[in-house]
Amino acid sequence: MQTDTPTATRFTVRELPYAYDALAPQFSEETLHYHHDKHYAGYISKLNELVVDTPYASQSLEDVMLSADGAVYNNAAQAWNHEFYFDQFSPRPQSAPQGALLEAIDRSFGSFERMKTQMTTAAVGLFGSGWVWLAAGPSDELVVVSTPNAGNPMREGLRPLLCIDVWEHAYYVDYRNRRADAVAALWERVDWKTVGERYEHK
Ligand code: MN
Repeated sequence: MQTDTPTATRFTVRELPYAYDALAPQFSEETLHYHHDKHYAGYISKLNELVVDTPYASQSLEDVMLSADGAVYNNAAQAWNHEFYFDQFSPRPQSAPQGALLEAIDRSFGSFERMKTQMTTAAVGLFGSGWVWLAAGPSDELVVVSTPNAGNPMREGLRPLLCIDVWEHAYYVDYRNRRADAVAALWERVDWKTVGERYEHK
């Protein structure tokens, strides 16, 4: 007879907000299956193993990400980061920022193009695995930050708006080692309406 383990599936895998083939050719169906079903779902699964019989089992994913350390942190942050990442793309994206977000980008970077260039340079230059973020600071100024491995700018008091996953698993199937090509393609799928809502809804 098996023992009852009610907390073992506490965190659940969120479905993609679009079909697996909806972001091709920038992200292939194979990449999204691997990225969502193996990598992201793997972090959720590992996290569920780690939090059994700990105080984390009764917390939200975001609270775990904000307070945990070590392996619990790594898996919670990777799960949170991937949900945030998948949510920012669309089969029919708004192709440029508007309104308050565009004004903030112009204030902080000079132009939308300069913001994209700064983020692309950071993504191409980040050594190893990690994430590059567009984030808002305490006075709503925008910054580009690089975080290694499972980093998240909320741990530094910043509000994330957009992220680039530069782990090889995010692009190797489609682009092999050409990270710059992967980042260039990513811009074509970013939905700036979603990013603008993140900026305005604090
Ligand atoms: Mn990833």
